[in-house]
Amino acid sequence: MQTQILGMVTPLMALFFAVTFVVLWRVGRMKRHVLGFGIAYALSAVGFLITHFLPANAFYLFHATQLFYALGSIVLVVSVCERAGQRFHLGSFVVVYLISALVLAVAVSFSNDIASRLIIVNIGYGVMFAMGVTTLLNARRRNLVDLAIIAIMAFQAADFLARPTLTLLFERSIPAEAYRESIYYSLIGLVLGVKGVTTAMVLIGATIADWTKALRESSDRDSLTGLLNRGAFEQSIRALLSRAQTEDRPLSLVVADIDHFKQVNDIWGHQAGDQAISSFGELIDQMVRGSDMAGRIGGEEFCIAIWNCPNDPAERLAERIRQAFARLEHDSLNDDIRLTASFGVATARDGETYEHLFARADAALYRAKSSGRDRVENAEDRRQEEALPKPTPQPTELKRAAAGR
Ligand code: GH3
Ligand code: MG
Ligand code: MG
Repeated sequence: MQTQILGMVTPLMALFFAVTFVVLWRVGRMKRHVLGFGIAYALSAVGFLITHFLPANAFYLFHATQLFYALGSIVLVVSVCERAGQRFHLGSFVVVYLISALVLAVAVSFSNDIASRLIIVNIGYGVMFAMGVTTLLNARRRNLVDLAIIAIMAFQAADFLARPTLTLLFERSIPAEAYRESIYYSLIGLVLGVKGVTTAMVLIGATIADWTKALRESSDRDSLTGLLNRGAFEQSIRALLSRAQTEDRPLSLVVADIDHFKQVNDIWGHQAGDQAISSFGELIDQMVRGSDMAGRIGGEEFCIAIWNCPNDPAERLAERIRQAFARLEHDSLNDDIRLTASFGVATARDGETYEHLFARADAALYRAKSSGRDRVENAEDRRQEEALPKPTPQPTELKRAAAGR
């Protein structure tokens, strides 16, 4: 009775973790790898129950447990790799499982000694975890949480590959009917319990860390465009500016503003305006590099910090964005209507503050507006450093378009 009760501890614990991951996945609206952790623990719980409650000498005992442990291991490793952004070929796992299931079937039919069976199935799981570790080591992202996951996966692999052989050095053969009285069996309860808990702790920790990171990031993001909001952009560019100065790298700033936007709202409505803002944000996001930073700093005003980029290429990038935006079709506006935007570019000078750099880029944008819009003006262009004329009111194509709506 006591052993039966003790035997329930590991599966119940696995079920508890399974439920925990499913709840984290639902409540935190997290990616599907968190659900994968839950499914992996649920599958292992079934494996533990089978190990403990099926007749010890049933020939199918090892096949049944192997199926559930293998599925649990596969789902766990695939989920962990998916979290790290690494694709995994499910086929290679299935091959490992099929090979070990086949070798197991041969062992079961030839011998009543279960030592060989234990080594076969455990090597199969060990290989799966080792494959996971090599995949994780190839992932780009590598912070403390990622390292903890790699360590726990490596511990799993090492345990599966080494423990059965080491234990069986002491206990040379185990007849099937004496399995549950063996040293191996009493050790396995303890080891699986410890591994199950430590792995769950690391994965729960990682999930909560991912969750808080996502929350922090979403509060830094503008909901319409997904770009950084003004506060987050300013905070990040200040840090980038001081890094550029320490590392002696050029940093350029582009400020962009959609032309005659008030009329877009007036003619086609606020929702159509929102869609145009969102399309401009998406275009900017697609056209800058991963090392650059883009933010929506006002209604239809955007900033791009271009990392490690001197003035000329920054101006060319702004020009490419200008041309692409001028060609962009807008579903929410009339078919033949294209919007334009004006751009100001400036490149940080030695010791320059963000406020000063922004003021120079903004002054260039102002010149672009006043000299006709739909153009890029460069703050570093000396010919432009004159007193700024007032922007001229525009007779617009938009008004004409409104008449024909
Ligand atoms: P200019 O060419 O000189 O830039 O003219 P403009 O009409 O674009 O002038 P301005 O940039 O000053 O106008 C911005 C307008 O954008 C004012 C406001 O009605 C509108 N706006 C600001 N935020 C939003 C928003 O989130 N959604 C929509 N649809 N409109 C916005
Ligand atoms: Mg505008
Ligand atoms: Mg504006």
